[in-house]
Amino acid sequence: MLRRTFASALAGAALALPLTAVVSTPAVAAPALLATTNIRVVASDGWPQANLGPVGPTGTVTVWMGRQAVQQGYSVVRIAAHELGHSLGLPDVKPGPCSSLMSGSTGGVSCANTKPNAAEAARVQRNYASALVVQNAGGVLSDGA
Ligand SMILES: [Zn+2]
Repeated sequence: MLRRTFASALAGAALALPLTAVVSTPAVAAPALLATTNIRVVASDGWPQANLGPVGPTGTVTVWMGRQAVQQGYSVVRIAAHELGHSLGLPDVKPGPCSSLMSGSTGGVSCANTKPNAAEAARVQRNYASALVVQNAGGVLSDGA
């Protein structure tokens, strides 16, 4: 059941973050898979937190899905999308409105928005516009209320 919940949350989060894949067109045939980024999702106690990215090719980040926020009624899909936003290099925007994905808990318990606003989406696009993505630019960012 827990596995299904996280799988559902991640699927929703992935749909909510409109990333454009950066694809190069080399003169020679490239391998089918150029780089792999590992995003590890951990069920944890306390508040959600994540490594602040942007995570680069072959990089690894961790998202901790804090049970405390879930138990207080915050949207599991929004939590996952928000924390993945950190992994993509988005900082918190607190306090902020529900329309901002990165407003996190300050968007309110009833906020179920899982999509970044235009500014947040543009920032992720800028983060990945260059092939020189800095891996794990920041430390762990905790979302405790
Ligand atoms: Zn946050």
